[in-house]
Formats: sequence, structure tokens, C-alpha cells
Amino acid sequence: MSEALIEVSRVSKSFGGVVANHDISLTVAEGRITGLIGPNGSGKTTLFNSIVGYHPIDAGSIKFEGREISDLNVQKIARLGLVRTFQQTRIYAKMNCLENMRISIAHRNAAWGDMFAKYPPAVVERAEQLLEFVGLYAKRNLVAGSLSFGQQKLLEFAMALMNEPKVLLLDEPTAGINPTLINGLIDRLQRANRDFGITMFIVEHNMRVIMNMAEHIYCLAHGELLAAGPPEKIQNDKSVIDAYLGAH
Ligand code: ADP
Ligand code: MG
Repeated sequence: MSEALIEVSRVSKSFGGVVANHDISLTVAEGRITGLIGPNGSGKTTLFNSIVGYHPIDAGSIKFEGREISDLNVQKIARLGLVRTFQQTRIYAKMNCLENMRISIAHRNAAWGDMFAKYPPAVVERAEQLLEFVGLYAKRNLVAGSLSFGQQKLLEFAMALMNEPKVLLLDEPTAGINPTLINGLIDRLQRANRDFGITMFIVEHNMRVIMNMAEHIYCLAHGELLAAGPPEKIQNDKSVIDAYLGAH
């Protein structure tokens, strides 16, 4: 058994009268890919937001590397190595790919300013290597807005990697991507996990994708944890099947 890098214990979160997460406990094992599934509105994004400090939780505890983080803000948590991507892609359409890579770490050193030329050569080199890694090196000087949606997702992934995360939380990484490009993205995610040792916690609607990638899967329904286990078990779990059939 590998260690729990993230430990969520009895977490609840409501918005007004809406209970988005109720009494959720789960762990994300170090070095592994863990999946989070559930019908629309079941509370997946809310749980991600709670973990990364986007909003305070109402009850429970969230630990990262054994340390309580539920009282820390987004910036502090990101600095610990916990980085997320969004369901909606967040890139700067009018900037080129290299500039987007720079922006993703600009907060680290105010002296760097907005001139990539002032950044340490190692940082620029890393940006180029990561663009190469996601297959965008040839497009490094093109504005991000000219990329296809799938390429923008890859750029966003490379931007997240610039922050050298220990854990990446990915919210529906394949959503809206042309099916022919999905395999390329999956391959990059798996290589980042295997070769860079990045732990991943992934919300994914595409069952084929998550069943292939994740070693362990949690399923939410109506804000509560419905089932947990390896893909083979989740795939055949009657409560999971019913939750999905009931939702569509
Ligand atoms: P999922 O990501 O699984 O689709 P969400 O976590 O986005 O689900 O939403 C869970 C529930 O919480 C939904 O009923 C949603 O409408 C509600 N919710 C999420 N964020 C907010 C918010 N900021 N304000 C009010 N309600 C919210
Ligand atoms: Mg969501």
C-alpha cells in the first residue's frame, strides 16, 4: 500500500440550502492515479474546490502530506504542491504558448516581470521542454487562441506542470476534446504520472478513460460517497450503475 497524500475526512459543504458535499471521506494515494466520478451535480467540482482551498468547508478535515490544509488559502496550498486545472480551460488567448507558460509561474518572483527574457534560462528551457512534452513545441510562438480546443487543454496541462506539482487535480480533462485526440492526452497524463511521479486525482465523465487510467475510483451521488474501489468493482457496482442510469 502506498501512502495517502491527500486525506479527506468527513467533509461537508453547503451553498445556502444546497448540500453539495455531505460527510465525504476518501484518500488519494501517493504516486497513483485516483478517479472521481458521479452524475452531474453530485458534488465533484465542489470537493476539488474544497481541497485546493477555493472556499472554506463547513465541517471535516483535509490533510496533505499529513498536514491540515483546510484552513489555508489557494495560494498557500498551491505552494505546497497541490495544483488543479479547471473544467473551463483558463489560458490567455492573445498570448503565445511560451508567454502562457511564463504567466503560469509569474507569481513566484515579482522581479521577473512580464518579459520572458528576464526569466532564468532554466525556466525558459523547462517551458520549452514541457511544450515539447505535450506536442506543442512547434506552435510555441503562436497565440493560444489559434490552437484547437484539445491543444488548448494540452497547453493548460503543460502550464500546470510548470508549477512542478506533487499532486494534480484535473476536472474533466477530456471534456469537449475531439475523440481522436483523447488518447494523446491520456498518454501524456499517464507519462506525467509515471515519469515525473505526479500523483493525480481526476474527475472524468468518460467511463472508458477513467476505467483505463485510475487504479482506484470514488463515486459520488447527491453529494455523498456512494462507492469506492478498483475499476473492475466500480464498473459492476449496482448502485453506481443505477446512479448513472437514473441521472440520464
Ligand atoms: P459536479 O461537479 O459533480 O457536477 P458540483 O460540485 O459542481 O457538481 O455541484 C454540486 C451541487 O452544488 C449542485 O447542486 C450545484 O448546483 C451546487 N453548487 C456548486 N457550486 C455552487 C455555488 N458556488 N453556489 C451555489 N451552489 C453551488
Ligand atoms: Mg463539475
